Amino acid sequence: MAELKPVVAERGGLRLFTIFDIEIRLDFSVVIIFGLIVYSLAAGLFPQWHPEWATGVTWGTAFAAGIMFFASLLAHELSHSLTARRFGIRVPRITLFLFGGVAEIESEAETPTAEFTIAIAGPLMSAALGLAFMLIVSGSLDEQTLAQILENPEEGMAGLNPVMTACIWLGSVNMMLAIFNLIPGFPLDGGRVFRALIWRATGDHLLATRMASTAGKWFGWTIMGIGLWNLLVLKSLAGLWLVLIGWFLSHLASASYAQLLTQRSLSTLRVGDVMRTRFDHVPADVSVERFIEDYLLRSSQLLWPVIDEGRVLGTLSFSEASSVPVAERPRRLVTDVMSGLGSARVLDANAMASSALTSLLQTGDEPVAVVSGGKVVGLIRGSDILRWVMVHQDRTAH
Ligand SMILES: [Zn+2]
Repeated sequence: MAELKPVVAERGGLRLFTIFDIEIRLDFSVVIIFGLIVYSLAAGLFPQWHPEWATGVTWGTAFAAGIMFFASLLAHELSHSLTARRFGIRVPRITLFLFGGVAEIESEAETPTAEFTIAIAGPLMSAALGLAFMLIVSGSLDEQTLAQILENPEEGMAGLNPVMTACIWLGSVNMMLAIFNLIPGFPLDGGRVFRALIWRATGDHLLATRMASTAGKWFGWTIMGIGLWNLLVLKSLAGLWLVLIGWFLSHLASASYAQLLTQRSLSTLRVGDVMRTRFDHVPADVSVERFIEDYLLRSSQLLWPVIDEGRVLGTLSFSEASSVPVAERPRRLVTDVMSGLGSARVLDANAMASSALTSLLQTGDEPVAVVSGGKVVGLIRGSDILRWVMVHQDRTAH
């Protein structure tokens, strides 16, 4: 039997390196945020503290501080990930993106204790980093300078060298990250901590998720309200940021609750239970032109198993067939352009529908052949699984 390759989704962004067996990726949105941070430090904050610095020093320090900021975010996510692994949950990769990082923690924590520990590990790391940067500063400066900074920050800062300046900024930013993440609204870390506590108290995971998600929505709306007040009453454009962040958080809070409901209803479902079993085959000796005219255009089926004497050789998709130049279509056979079963993206009938869904949706809802014992037994698209969830929602989503 040909080796069946699982569906591997194409991922955007840049692969940086692997650490502790976890792949670290960079989403391209990070480049924009990195640029904004470096710019705001080099053109705003640092010249304000150190008007005497040469341009090169200012930009160099801002650049280094920006890199260290993303290293801090990575440490935060690694802290979640390594803790999750201690509880037996796999974490294949971490992607740094716009608002920080996402550790792809493969499954939900199984106990409130696990959830609590995994969630709190990130903010604890940020707080520890914040403290460490502050300690570097206080350890390297004499008492007089420290007293001066506490008394009159503006003047005190002026005497600091680039390393100390960056450390002070990194210390406060990491502290802010720790505090912001501990706000008890889902999906922030604090929301997960909050959920774990209610879960432990009531024993009801779904109720705990609903409460944490509601808290997350309130929190998002509050931020939006503060933003609108800033924008309309104080006439400050910074309010626009708050409105956006608030909207984003309240949206995430509802989305993550909906996602949990979907995962729950899918928890026992396998690909074989939900695949389409009514489909047609195309014989191996048919030309691409005849395949398009007599098969593809006469049916809504988008993926066709190619058979020869009852044996499935591979599958031919709508896009594979239509990519053959019109002039060549009469001369080419379907077997020339199909994907062999060994190389095609196929799913095993026994695979869990929930994990298949993620990879299916990442590739634009293209159909994939479902295989069992070397035979094509069905076809499936991500939307088939979503349709199943919709049809079964009344029974499962309470
Ligand atoms: Zn976190």
